[in-house]
Amino acid sequence: MSAHLAKLNPRQKEAVLHIDGPCLVLAGAGSGKTSVITRKIAYLIEECGMPARHIAAVTFTNKASREMKERVGGLVKGSAARGLTVSTFHNLGLNIIRREHKALGMKASFSIFDAEDARALLKELMLKDGDLDSDHLDLVANQISNWKNDLVIPAMAASKAASPGEAQIAEIYRRYNQALRAYNAVDFDDLILTPVRLFSEQPEVLEKWRRKIRYLLVDEYQDTNSSQYLLVKLIVGDRGGLTVVGDDDQSIYAWRGARPENLSLLKKDFPSLSLIKLEQNYRSTSRILRVANHLIAHNPHEFDKALWSEMGLGEPIRVIRCANEDAESERVAMEILSQRLKRQAKFSDFAILYRGNHQARLLEIKLQAHQIPYTISGGTSFFARAEIKDVMSYLRLIVNPDDDNAFLRIINTPRRQIGPSTLEAIGHYANERHISMFNACGEIGLGEHMPEASLERIRRFHHWVLQMGENCRGDDPVGALKQLVEDIDYEGWLHQNASAPKVAERRMENVWYLLDSIKAILQKADDDELTVEDAIAKLMLRDMLERQEEEDLGDQVQLMTLHASKGLEYPHVFMVGMEEDLLPHRTSIEEDNIEEERRLTYVGITRAQKTLTMTWAAKRKQYGEIIETSYSRFLDELPEEDVVSEGLGQHNPEVNRAQGSAMLGSLLDMLKK
Ligand code: ATP
Ligand code: MG
Repeated sequence: MSAHLAKLNPRQKEAVLHIDGPCLVLAGAGSGKTSVITRKIAYLIEECGMPARHIAAVTFTNKASREMKERVGGLVKGSAARGLTVSTFHNLGLNIIRREHKALGMKASFSIFDAEDARALLKELMLKDGDLDSDHLDLVANQISNWKNDLVIPAMAASKAASPGEAQIAEIYRRYNQALRAYNAVDFDDLILTPVRLFSEQPEVLEKWRRKIRYLLVDEYQDTNSSQYLLVKLIVGDRGGLTVVGDDDQSIYAWRGARPENLSLLKKDFPSLSLIKLEQNYRSTSRILRVANHLIAHNPHEFDKALWSEMGLGEPIRVIRCANEDAESERVAMEILSQRLKRQAKFSDFAILYRGNHQARLLEIKLQAHQIPYTISGGTSFFARAEIKDVMSYLRLIVNPDDDNAFLRIINTPRRQIGPSTLEAIGHYANERHISMFNACGEIGLGEHMPEASLERIRRFHHWVLQMGENCRGDDPVGALKQLVEDIDYEGWLHQNASAPKVAERRMENVWYLLDSIKAILQKADDDELTVEDAIAKLMLRDMLERQEEEDLGDQVQLMTLHASKGLEYPHVFMVGMEEDLLPHRTSIEEDNIEEERRLTYVGITRAQKTLTMTWAAKRKQYGEIIETSYSRFLDELPEEDVVSEGLGQHNPEVNRAQGSAMLGSLLDMLKK
């Protein structure tokens, strides 16, 4: 038997071997769905002789795709895995746009607008209407994103509008898309939508991609949205080279347009679909699984699953009540220190999961105080830092002179004494001629609209940017980028504006780090076509997806949101802030969306392999005020016999009796060692 099958159970084997026709693996957490994908890739390459370049696997996060690449590399001999595509949906979309920009009528050097850029653009459009508060801005941004994910184009949005308010948003949507086109830019949602449109409208392009991607595998399928699903359908066509794996109980991105019903749709769209269920969990102890199953049973179910495991009964789940949030973080830090010794574990065996990024701050302080190394996935993104945004805007403008957002950000950073009236004149001139602001700077006609001195400064800037662009396209792009940063004396500018020299130095280090990353991408590229433009586009996209998931460095406790923990596993897991209003989150309570919060809790619980500890704080600061909290309703949904509670006014007096004996048990364990 093939080595790729030896370690699999019969159902998993069936899923790997099933290659004639589409296949859906629907199974609970830790049952080896992702493992099926990696094994299947290896099987396709080594046993079926399918060249790796014809196989594409789609994962939900960059971290997951990195891990998958590594795992496949470990399974497949030599260089046979070269050319394999393992990426997120957005990266796949970016690749398609990059290669098909001509067919799309786009320039090669398009910009990708992240959420902040998109908001800035919307703000500008809405300001013209004099209609702006930030709530409304959020609402409009969300609505547009939802429309895009549901494949609703502006004309459709307009015709379906049920109220004047909606009609107005549809109109902003139309102008927003128009502006993106003018800027030669795509937003995040367009990375999926654009290929979908392309494939629907140009069958010969679709055919080309169908020849390229002969087998498609999708992980975390329950979290795909409508446009992602359509992309899958288009690529696969009726050849059936498709394996998708998912778990409806782990659908946690409905708020971002995910459609768990895509799982049921598959059966309709692919009548020959084979459904395979996995029931053995290889990750967690029976107790952890029982707790997870018990909790999720409170949600209605379309597909029944019965997970079991042979990983031993394990320890009871601990629920710890802490006096306040400060005590909670302190307690978690202390637990990690003592557990690490007691269990002879590494720091990296521990993960702390929370509902919102803001909960990390206090944990960080306590971990630092106790000198516990940790790494945080999420929080402020590297690319959200002002210095990185500045330098990236230079790069963006260099690769795409139509990018007005980038132009506006850097025209006076550092100061060039180009005043608001000059900028207004440029904007006006550009608008009338339907050209970008940067290109307007190079037009002769602009001279009539401003004083000589201003014009001179504008011309110098314009010339310099063009020159930098040329340098970057030369033999030594990274050297050219360094030159750019030095030319503008960015370091001096940072020093002028920073509160302390140390701050400026740190910022400058970030800038060098950015240039190093570009260098690394250029060097690692296995396709030689990769230009500086592509490297920058890749880098931006990587960051957008990675803000929640930085690289792991060594032996560190892992901190992350519950959302970011999907697909991962850790020996010892802490879930903090198990309180009403936090988990379930207040907005979900208000919107009566408890089921998704329950799934999120299920995701958290099922990350744990050996131990799970939940904490909650009886008091917590909210909007500067200390309030009494109530423990999460989900704690009442756990099986009593598997839970031990601790702390004053325990959430569940019934199980406290068990606590004494459990403590005695663990003491005895320690003595035995
Ligand atoms: P999730 O729903 O959380 O994404 P999953 O279903 O994708 O989980 P995997 O991550 O693939 O599950 O597997 C969970 C763990 O079980 C991994 O550590 C994996 O190596 C291990 N595993 C999977 N299948 C087997 C098997 N047949 N024998 C032993 N270990 C296995
Ligand atoms: Mg998985």
